[in-house]
Amino acid sequence: MDSSMMWTCLDVMNLSAHLGIGFVLLRSRVEKRRPATISLTANKSTTTNKMDNSSNLIIRRVENIIKSQEDKRLYRGLELSNHMKVLLVSDPTTDKSAAALDHDRKYIAGYMSDPREVLGLAHFCEHMLFLGTQKYPNENDYSKFLSEHNGSSNAATYPDHTIYYFDVVPEELSNALDRFSQFFIAPLFTEAATDREMNAVNSEHEKNIPSDVWRKDQLDKHMADSAHPYHTFGTGTQRIINKNHFTVNF
Ligand SMILES: [Zn+2]
Repeated sequence: MDSSMMWTCLDVMNLSAHLGIGFVLLRSRVEKRRPATISLTANKSTTTNKMDNSSNLIIRRVENIIKSQEDKRLYRGLELSNHMKVLLVSDPTTDKSAAALDHDRKYIAGYMSDPREVLGLAHFCEHMLFLGTQKYPNENDYSKFLSEHNGSSNAATYPDHTIYYFDVVPEELSNALDRFSQFFIAPLFTEAATDREMNAVNSEHEKNIPSDVWRKDQLDKHMADSAHPYHTFGTGTQRIINKNHFTVNF
């Protein structure tokens, strides 16, 4: 585990006041197959509850994470004082670094947490977070920075969680992570971007309409118990969001 990785982990503690989230930091070769199934599985006897000597931000470390015999990467689990769970993965042989952040239903979660009168709100927020923060106000700062450093990014809203991720050349991980973490600290949600992203969400929905996969998925939701959060519509449309967005307290 190199020291720069530990620093970036601690740097995102700024998120603590806003979200309790699972944070996964990867330093590994980013191939078409993303290492998204990495799980933090540990033998209890190997966990410790000591506070880190250099910081009181870490309340628990998990070493000796169970992994495949063929997996040569180094893993470390951390629980931060805001109860954010962190998985660090180190592989010095790779040419990319990456980070992913997932927040689950306990907090802002996915589209099953949408208010009934603003279906699609979680998905809409996922779009909006990329478009400027107080520290980096230019709308395209994040995507421009990543593209200039051989990186890429994406996000996805699921029923009970939303995930954001990026990859970048290792030398720029800290700078990329600083931009990334600002999404969850002080996003701008400007009016201009709001209008545009409502259109983007709407276009996404219209693209899905002729898709059998999306139709079947929506039918499945409609057939669920109407009192259950699964009985919903997660993508959102301009009509639904626009009708309500001025009255929603973000
Ligand atoms: Zn989308």
